[in-house]
Amino acid sequence: MKNVALVAHDKKKDQMIAWVRKHEAELSLLTLFGTGTTGARIAEETGLKITPLKSGPLGGDAQIGAMIAEGRLDTLIFFIDPLSALPHDVDVKSLLRLAILYDTTLAVNEATASQLLVPQNAKI
Ligand code: PGA
Repeated sequence: MKNVALVAHDKKKDQMIAWVRKHEAELSLLTLFGTGTTGARIAEETGLKITPLKSGPLGGDAQIGAMIAEGRLDTLIFFIDPLSALPHDVDVKSLLRLAILYDTTLAVNEATASQLLVPQNAKI
């Protein structure tokens, strides 16, 4: 099973939950990880099993970055809020940098995340 991390900034969390609900069947075939708050909401509000990491601003982004660096993550789905200043902007940049560096399959918006689940694309 592929390891997939789900992360959503605060103003993107409702969108992430709706997206996860819509794609629950496909996502149930994957091993899911999430930053603290995103992961807790997915666990509470959907039927999916997900391993929660630390909250993003408290090191969760860095934990996912470490998974990428260690070759333990296949895909990152990261719903970034482009309209808010974030206290942990450096962590966000670091995570994106590592995902690019290691050529990790990466979606930073819903349209691309949905494409990754289309069977013929077979990316995750
Ligand atoms: P959170 O972290 O899921 O704990 O809110 C996401 C983030 O802001 O990186």
